[in-house]
Amino acid sequence: MAKKKPAEEVVDTEEYNVDKIVGNAIEDRTLHYKVKWVGYSEEYDSSEAEWRITADKKVIDFALTVIVPETYVDTIPTVLSQLESYANDNEIIQTVIDPLSILALTTVQCGSVMFVDNDSIGSKLFFLEYLRDCKQEYLLHSAFLPSDEVIDQDLKRYSAELRYRLFAFPEHPPVRILIPEEIEKLFYPPPLLSQLLFEPVTVEIYDRKEKHLFAPQSTDIGFNKTRPFLHKSYLNVKKYDDPRYFKHFFFNNARRLYNGMPRDVSSRDCRFLCSLLLEQELGRGWVLRAGHDVEEEIPLIMMAGVIRPWQDANRSLARVGERVAFSSFIEIPGTDHCLDRREFHDFTKYIPHSCYPTCAVRLVRSGNEYPDLVVYSKVKLTELNNHTISLDYYKGFRKEVNRYFQKNKHPDGKVIHLFEKNIDFVRCLCSMGARCRNVLYIDRSLKAGNPKAEKKHKLEDIDPQFQFRGMTVVDDPKTLWEINYGRFV
Ligand SMILES: [Zn+2]
Repeated sequence: MAKKKPAEEVVDTEEYNVDKIVGNAIEDRTLHYKVKWVGYSEEYDSSEAEWRITADKKVIDFALTVIVPETYVDTIPTVLSQLESYANDNEIIQTVIDPLSILALTTVQCGSVMFVDNDSIGSKLFFLEYLRDCKQEYLLHSAFLPSDEVIDQDLKRYSAELRYRLFAFPEHPPVRILIPEEIEKLFYPPPLLSQLLFEPVTVEIYDRKEKHLFAPQSTDIGFNKTRPFLHKSYLNVKKYDDPRYFKHFFFNNARRLYNGMPRDVSSRDCRFLCSLLLEQELGRGWVLRAGHDVEEEIPLIMMAGVIRPWQDANRSLARVGERVAFSSFIEIPGTDHCLDRREFHDFTKYIPHSCYPTCAVRLVRSGNEYPDLVVYSKVKLTELNNHTISLDYYKGFRKEVNRYFQKNKHPDGKVIHLFEKNIDFVRCLCSMGARCRNVLYIDRSLKAGNPKAEKKHKLEDIDPQFQFRGMTVVDDPKTLWEINYGRFV
């Protein structure tokens, strides 16, 4: 009877073997979990490095046993304000930082990838710093389950305000927000309305945000002490010439009041005819789906973010690491810019990665100097694939990963090879079986193989040949498409 299971077997289905996780420990700046195996008594419990365990629901169950759901939301501000002092405090890391990181990771491509860092603690602290600095800490508020009444009442208001906001952007597809009938363990607060973008904006527009585009956050408390609503002043403005009076966005000639990006008005109103659904999934947070059956080659939604020079993406990678960079920046091919979705983001941030995705992205004429990045269906979206919208975010690294494994033999599998070489990497959890590439990215630090190097030192020493311009998601960077009445022409 084998005591330790091979890593490839440690996955989250009944026929496999994690019964539950009963503890955590730190060894060499990596978290380890004590695992109780299905069908084995406690004497066979073993300590496994976190990268060996892909049983995300079991890991969440464990996180919920470590924290006190009723009070922990109140402790989040204090914890986040002192992150820099926790690097060597094992007790705080085991009891506070680890569970917070477990909840936060569902937000990176909906938990469909795993970041394997030898200095996993340094890397988790960086990610929490980002959530704090980019005002995303509401993502950590999910462990406390509000009552059904609170959810119903707040969600009605949230949906109404979302609809109101969508009026201002008539070409945006309708998005319905759906909560499962029974929430057993976690409730994820929906994206803050004041941080949602519905079309890309330049840095210049972003800098004028007080005046025009971005609604100030409400002071009202919503789900789990988050403030997801819009400020009242944005809903009750009555003056015709106030750009915040959303009703007037209906009129093309009033659009100039909004003062956003110039856009090609004639093609603007009828581009996206499908409706979308934002749905909660345990361990994955919010996930975007098609709201009904969709044919192939149908444009679904345009990606939005703040348009910045790609050097900002590269700097962010060097400063806080792959978790933030890979989930926030999208390359705009043919320009020197990328979409930055750290602080302000759109619904496409809720599209998971897949090695065999149902959707892809095309460049579409926008009427200004930056083409639109439009997500479209590559295959039919039906009940058979659960109306799933997925993208391959990592194809830009594909050749380089293949090249690495052509040179380096890996008798025990790619994942184990990299871990034994102490190289950081991104592991795929897309569940596409033989189609899954398993390893999506290999650390480009010149210190990549140095087991003693801390994450921050690795990031300071990234191969100068590697210039991160945002994730490559566009199929064909040379073709500029147009859309008319919900179809490419
Ligand atoms: Zn995969």
